[in-house]
Amino acid sequence: MKIIEKEIQTIVKIIRNAIRITEWFKEEGFKTYIKQDQSPVTLADYASQIYIISKLKELYPKDSIIAEETFSSELNNYTEKVIQSCYNKLNLSLKPNIKEILNYRGPNSKTRWSIDPIDGTKGYQKGLSYAIGVGLINNQEKKLSIIGVPNYNTDGVAVFVANKGKGALTSYGEKDFVPIKVSETRDVKKSVLCHSLHYDEPWVMKLANKLGIENYIQIDSMAKFCMVADGSADLYIKPMYVDRSFIWDFLPGDLLVTEAGGKVTDLKGVSPNYIDNKCMISAPGLVVSNGMFHQDILDTIKNTPNIID
Ligand SMILES: [Mg+2]
Repeated sequence: MKIIEKEIQTIVKIIRNAIRITEWFKEEGFKTYIKQDQSPVTLADYASQIYIISKLKELYPKDSIIAEETFSSELNNYTEKVIQSCYNKLNLSLKPNIKEILNYRGPNSKTRWSIDPIDGTKGYQKGLSYAIGVGLINNQEKKLSIIGVPNYNTDGVAVFVANKGKGALTSYGEKDFVPIKVSETRDVKKSVLCHSLHYDEPWVMKLANKLGIENYIQIDSMAKFCMVADGSADLYIKPMYVDRSFIWDFLPGDLLVTEAGGKVTDLKGVSPNYIDNKCMISAPGLVVSNGMFHQDILDTIKNTPNIID
């Protein structure tokens, strides 16, 4: 399957509107709930997902959808009214059946869209970094990724796009898209490492020290993939759980960095594989780099017993 320019523009618009939704909730206030896995979710996560699904369903009725959130008891008449009033205020002309659309996953198809309506909910709650990510996969081949990051820097909302075989691009505000590339830093000691603010593990810093890295950026969300892709950082190391890693968290960033010329593997050097709703890995972490010293990092991990605990 081929993705054409016009389709990408349409999905970029969907992501920009989803950001308007999440930012609306940030201004109006949002209620937070705790999911079964103890992670937080807000009404903005639901409202963003419902909007994105309803648009993708309209555009691609034959495709499958894999999305993070499912309907739960927090959604009642009152919260549904709040979500609807957000759509009305933003003139999105959307009157969805909230439960039906939130849980809509489309027909069984080899063409699958992944949706993370808010990645980095903890960052979002605190007014820090978060992202909205959509990925497309056909069979096992990564095809398209679109990531919106509202407060990436001071140049306005950033949107990152990667189209398989055609490189990676970014746009700030409503400006034109321009190509991005990973950095050319060759010395791992001089590299800038970005790592998670709320979901880090002590071994990441132990490994960074062992590698002689001195510069760090600690932020939430898949914005870290964007930073490696556009050269703002050289490296991102991410702890993962082999059985609890999902496609919506990793597919968009994986394709973005790869298309920008970088490398994404697990700690054993294997590329992640996306099966059903999972991101399959053979070791509990991801190395995302500009590709220059990727092997050195894998070798250090391999040759340092017990560094990953
Ligand atoms: Mg999320």
